[in-house]
Amino acid sequence: MTSTKKGEAPASDPSCIFCSIVRREAPSRIVYEDDLTLAFLDILPLSRGHTLVIPKAHVDRITDLPPAHYAPLLTTLSKVCQRVERLSRHYNVGVNQGALAGQVVFHLHFHVIPRYPDQPSFPRHRTEISDREAQEVLSVLAAP
Ligand code: AMP
Ligand code: ZN
Repeated sequence: MTSTKKGEAPASDPSCIFCSIVRREAPSRIVYEDDLTLAFLDILPLSRGHTLVIPKAHVDRITDLPPAHYAPLLTTLSKVCQRVERLSRHYNVGVNQGALAGQVVFHLHFHVIPRYPDQPSFPRHRTEISDREAQEVLSVLAAP
C-alpha cells in the first residue's frame, strides 16, 4: 500500500482490482456509489444479491482506514443492508482480514450476503454471476 500521512485519504493502487473498478477500468455491477464509497455485486456470489461495500480509497485493512472514512463507509454499509432486506431480512455482514482469514482482495471490503431458506449453507463451488442474474438482482438493489 502507498504510505500516507495519518488521516489522509490513501492513493489508488494500480495493481488492485477494486481500485480498477473504482476508476471504471474494470467492469462491475454497481449497486450504490457516492464520493467516498462504492457497492457492487460480487462476481462469484455466495448467494443471490451478494454485495461488496468498499471505500474508494485504497486501504488493505480496517485499521488503515482514516477516521474521516468511518462514517461514510458505515452509512453505505447500512444503506446496502437496507436494500438487501428487499431480498431477505437474513444476511451475513463480514470482513476477511488477512490471508489466513480468507482475504483474497487486499482492498478493504464488507461482504453483505443474503441468506435464504432454500439455501441453508453456502455453495462449495462458486460460479460467476450471469448477466441475467446480475440484471435481475440490480433491478432490486440498485433502485434508491
Ligand atoms: P475476500 O476473500 O474477502 O478478499 O473476498 C474477495 C471477494 O471479491 C470475493 O468474494 C470475490 O468473488 C470478489 N471479487 C473478486 N474480483 C471481483 C470483481 N472483479 N468484481 C466483483 N467481485 C470480485
Ligand atoms: Zn484498491
